[in-house]
Amino acid sequence: MLYLSTRGDQTPKHFCDILLEGLAPDGGLYLPAHYPTVDDATLSRLRSVYQNQGYAELAFEVLSLYIDDIPAADLKALCRKTYTAEVFGTPEIVPLRSLEDGIWLEALSNGPTLAFKDMAMQLLGNLFEYELARRGEELNILGATSGDTGSAAEYAMRGKKGVRVFMTSPAGRMSPFQQAQMFSLMDDNIFNIAVDGVFDDCQDMVKAVSNDLDFKRKYRIGTVNSINWARLLAQVVYYFAGYFQATQDNSEKVSFTVPSGNFGNVCAGHVARMMGLPVARLVVATNENDVLDEFFKTGVYRVRSSADTHETSSPSMDISKASNFERFVFDLLGRDAALTKSYFGDALGRVGFFDLEAHPTFSQAARRYGFDSGKSTHADRLATIKDTWEHHGMMIDTHTADGVKVAREHVQAGVPMIVLETALPIKFAETIVEATGREPDRPAKFIGIEALPKRVVTMSADVQAIKSFIAGHCV
Ligand SMILES: *Cc1c(COP(=O)(O)O)cnc(C)c1O
Repeated sequence: MLYLSTRGDQTPKHFCDILLEGLAPDGGLYLPAHYPTVDDATLSRLRSVYQNQGYAELAFEVLSLYIDDIPAADLKALCRKTYTAEVFGTPEIVPLRSLEDGIWLEALSNGPTLAFKDMAMQLLGNLFEYELARRGEELNILGATSGDTGSAAEYAMRGKKGVRVFMTSPAGRMSPFQQAQMFSLMDDNIFNIAVDGVFDDCQDMVKAVSNDLDFKRKYRIGTVNSINWARLLAQVVYYFAGYFQATQDNSEKVSFTVPSGNFGNVCAGHVARMMGLPVARLVVATNENDVLDEFFKTGVYRVRSSADTHETSSPSMDISKASNFERFVFDLLGRDAALTKSYFGDALGRVGFFDLEAHPTFSQAARRYGFDSGKSTHADRLATIKDTWEHHGMMIDTHTADGVKVAREHVQAGVPMIVLETALPIKFAETIVEATGREPDRPAKFIGIEALPKRVVTMSADVQAIKSFIAGHCV
């Protein structure tokens, strides 16, 4: 399988060539040259693999369709090492439970940091370690986080050979739980850097370091952001696992509702659907930051300024633009790279939006690809959390609540609607208490973590300071 860029670069690349890269050199995103399709017999075989051999074997089967430069036995070992009941809490890894008539919740958030990003990041950690060892290279991951991504990256890379993580976060601005999760890691290869400033200051420091190409090369600086193809690919697997749990037979269809920010999670659903998974609708749920809902309703993709980006109680969906969206639009435009480039490389930079209604096939295509959308507000979130708690005895987190609210508006008779549960409520306890008057349950392994010793350095928002810190720790 070869990969290409959404902006036209056709240099032939295999999976491991793009594994450690971010954007393609032309600024586009990597996609496979085609989507391998899964026929009825194969789908039945995958169903039986998941039911009889488990999630890790299913992951191996799906990944094998896209990865031809890791020997099968090695890839299988990497999947088995990643998707264990010990790490993810249950033998199903992503168990499905019924919420109410027609609506199911697929649990993606029982990994080490209690958010769905673990599903991909845990695999990425093992893939990075494997590939770096094979090349005899090292990688220093530099990132900025306000919560979920940073902790998922640290828990994936902790103790991995050849990798160090330098993670900046705004000092004192993460929840005590999130701080405890990250700062209690004592692994030698994990460095927490609390920056005097806000999240944007952290991100600016990371950008400044990455723009210094000499420094970047010398210290092998890399990232693990959500545009990484391997992360997206890992997420395709749980769409299959959700489908197999909700159906008995391949003639049945299901729909998914996906709480969305950067369009990474639901883009994996799009890929699964392109492969032939019987998906009726993919419903994109946004919060007040409704860039994507606006697009699916109007054909206009309009990125927001930071002043126009709201801070909400589902903070992991607070985005100004959806960094994975270009992949879907590329498919929507019939894989026309020149047109994709004119929208993402040109129009967005020049005027901050593009309008696909002008593109004659847009409305047909959006429908053909099965997309729908809806949005949710703080008040909706509170009402949904209260309702699922009072009527079903189920406590859901704020992001999942956005999903449930929107799913209820799109459920169709006879088609199971699967809402992806993207985090556990304990991560957003304040809003849960506001909605229900109760503290959410805390998994046993997190009891008392706020009292653990912390390993973190504090730094002013100074590019030179972080460069010296990195240089001083790369020995
Ligand atoms: C990252 C995240 C999302 C958004 O996922 P995208 O792939 O960016 O669309 C939703 N919910 C939670 C809890 C997250 O951490």
